Amino acid sequence: MRHDESRTLYDRALSVLAGGVNSSVRATKPYPFFVERGDGAHVIDADGNRYIDYVMGYGPLLYGHDAPEPVQAAVQKHAAAGPMYGAPTEIEVEHAEFVARHVPSVEMIRFVNSGTEATVSAVRLARGVTGRDKIVVMQGGYHGAQESTLVEGGPESVHPSSPGIPSSFAEHTIPVPFNDTETIHEVFEEHGEDIAGVLVEPILANMGIVHPVDGYLQTLRDVTEEYDSLLIFDEVITGFRVGGLQCAQGKFGVTPDLTTFGKIIGGGFPVGAIGGTAELVEQFTPGGDVFQSGTFSGHPVTMAAGHEYLKYAAENDVYEHVNRLGEKLRTGISDILEDQAPEYTVVGTDSMFKTVFTRHGPANRSDLCESGCEQRESCNRFDYCPKTAADVAKAETDRWERVFWQEMKDRGVFLTANQFESQFVSYAHTDEDIEQTLEAYKEAL
Ligand code: PLP
Repeated sequence: MRHDESRTLYDRALSVLAGGVNSSVRATKPYPFFVERGDGAHVIDADGNRYIDYVMGYGPLLYGHDAPEPVQAAVQKHAAAGPMYGAPTEIEVEHAEFVARHVPSVEMIRFVNSGTEATVSAVRLARGVTGRDKIVVMQGGYHGAQESTLVEGGPESVHPSSPGIPSSFAEHTIPVPFNDTETIHEVFEEHGEDIAGVLVEPILANMGIVHPVDGYLQTLRDVTEEYDSLLIFDEVITGFRVGGLQCAQGKFGVTPDLTTFGKIIGGGFPVGAIGGTAELVEQFTPGGDVFQSGTFSGHPVTMAAGHEYLKYAAENDVYEHVNRLGEKLRTGISDILEDQAPEYTVVGTDSMFKTVFTRHGPANRSDLCESGCEQRESCNRFDYCPKTAADVAKAETDRWERVFWQEMKDRGVFLTANQFESQFVSYAHTDEDIEQTLEAYKEAL
């Protein structure tokens, strides 16, 4: 594979863009390939190399790179008609109505421009309505580039995970291990009166994909209710992917007070959103006092794309297709691992998947899967599934990033370069793509 054009572009980029990129995860080693265009489930780079794409923009592209015709038509119509005004438009209302009809926790919504903005605003809302400062997050959870959640440590000792964040911010955040019922009870017993909310990805999707064990999300629901704190699901990744249009909260049957969205809800354009009960969401300005505002929020092109995306999914076999191919990939990779790398694990659900370069266990058989994963009855790998971020943290990250990712790329398969980030199957992927991908896994492993 030649990469001359990408190398030249990267050299230019290094002079004018920090690290040569606009999002740090894109800076793959030794240099990233520059994408020229997408084509269905594939991307083609500046040197003409073609890859089967499982990065899918890090999640938003449910349909791959060719959006269905109604999405394209709506985007063009709204781009040509404005594209934005600083005044409300009907498409914002239509999109909000659709989301409220389908997502259990959502009666009212505020659209913003990124997942980060959504979690920042949700945390501010939780603090504003409860009059409390502390936020509980999960170790290994990710909620974007926001001050309150870029933390490391545990309940006893916490500090910012990046320079530039005052330690006084981190003092208000309590990281706990995911799936650990005992710790969450202890934390609430000690700090319950000061906790504004628990912010949690219902499935940890930025830490190699970790499922909630049975009852864990309900425990969070119960304990937050008991202490008048808010339960906030961060569904930036899982929203409209896991559990279809009802999102992960529908799949797991636990309804949070607030939900943050991003990615798919904007149909491939920059987006975020905070949904919840009308009583809560109305506390944002101008109805309430919790400040929230944005020049680009509810951008008509984004709203049109997101709305047509979701409508198309409601009317077609989108989730059946992506979930079937997701399972085919996970099963296929599991079989390959069994033969060639039994010390590794396949994780994921619906249309998400990842190979984690470690194993939790094997557990003894009494510690079989307690996850809410629907494949657990038939799954032959469940006793190896990671239960906490710490299980995943043992992974051979260097081997994934320096060796395996490169080997897959050289075989025409584009995976997320980081060991911990999920990969996604789109509606554009075909059985043939999956078979080709499994061949590449077989060789690369
Ligand atoms: N929350 C979760 C669960 C995410 O995965 C991400 C990004 O990947 C974010 C929030 C931040 O979203 P954005 O990158 O759009 O700011």
